[in-house]
Amino acid sequence: MTTAQAHRTAAKHHPRRIAIFGGSFDPIHNGHLAVARAADRRFNFDEIHFIPASRPPHKLKQHLAPFPHRYAMVALASTEHPHFVPSLAEAGEDFSGTQLHYSVDTVRYFRHAYHGHGDRIFFMIGADAFLDIPMWKEYESLLGLCDFIIANRPGIRAEALKLVIPPDLMAPANAKRDPDPSPSQLVAQLRRSNVYLLENVSSDVSATDIRRRAHKGQAIHGLVSARVEEYIHKQGLYR
Ligand code: ATP
Repeated sequence: MTTAQAHRTAAKHHPRRIAIFGGSFDPIHNGHLAVARAADRRFNFDEIHFIPASRPPHKLKQHLAPFPHRYAMVALASTEHPHFVPSLAEAGEDFSGTQLHYSVDTVRYFRHAYHGHGDRIFFMIGADAFLDIPMWKEYESLLGLCDFIIANRPGIRAEALKLVIPPDLMAPANAKRDPDPSPSQLVAQLRRSNVYLLENVSSDVSATDIRRRAHKGQAIHGLVSARVEEYIHKQGLYR
């Protein structure tokens, strides 16, 4: 093997850190991007995959902009950072984004695609959404499939987040600590995964507020990235 080949092989097997960040992204906004940037600074990701949800099972009754629009906005916002990757993981075979997808299956898909190479998967989620996790499909399995990074939201205490995790999933008290030098707060050490908390990263931007403003013809400048703002105007979304 030549030195160049050896380098290439070594580079190929360097375990990567892959974050996945799912949401309605209706639209993706600066609150989401700020959380992703902060997590990237603390955890040194190689890639952060933004996954527009097909029709989130827990939001079945809520009207969502069609998947192609939500994906297009995620793709436009992803141009802002070299590690941001727009993901079609929940687009479905026909790319319509109308088939139901559950997070546990999406994480299994990423584990299959990346984890086999020794890569580490992190699931990014807002604290409000994490509190709902017991309602998700196979949530106990999900919690053990990858590490979690929770973006704290105002008014939610770390203790409340910990209560969501079934005690029998917790690592025994004498378990070896994660050697990860990450300064982020470790909320809980599970048998097979860790749950971290990112503090002071959430803003009060919400997609609901942006849709409401666009509907009333009010400015959304500064709440979404410039390209997403332009897209919303050109497509007449949320009017
Ligand atoms: P909506 O207002 O339509 O409910 P949203 O702005 O909360 O939408 P989602 O796309 O549903 O956005 O959120 C995706 C993920 O991002 C969720 O885990 C949510 O908790 C998190 N999130 C959303 N807004 C913020 C924010 N401003 N700061 C931190 N996390 C956020």
